[in-house]
Amino acid sequence: MTRTMTCIVCPLGCQISVTAGEASGYTCLRGKAWAEQEATRPVRTLTTTVMLLGGEYPLLPVRTQQPVPKGKLMDCMDHANSLRVEAPVKAGQVICPDLAGTGVSLIAARTANKRP
Ligand code: SF4
Repeated sequence: MTRTMTCIVCPLGCQISVTAGEASGYTCLRGKAWAEQEATRPVRTLTTTVMLLGGEYPLLPVRTQQPVPKGKLMDCMDHANSLRVEAPVKAGQVICPDLAGTGVSLIAARTANKRP
């Protein structure tokens, strides 16, 4: 079975086909690696927000430290929605060390100070 997809690694958007795990139609090796992974084990970096308690903003932007399996994104969102973090928070601080059992950390995407 052949799967054809548009590469999202750069704006060129090459059409890449993957047959039996082997990619064709790519222009560079980054696209080849992306397509082969996308066809076999798609992953995404999750970016969202969590509730910030006592902070200068009500929500703290967060992201996963590494990409998580695409099929676990909704579980990761549910877990992130259940989290509450107390200000102050530094950018890069681990908010959750194992998001939805993926083994991937959720980290703060920005610094948030306490509400003045
Ligand atoms: S294959 Fe390479 S050049 Fe083509 S869209 Fe992907 S990253 Fe860009």
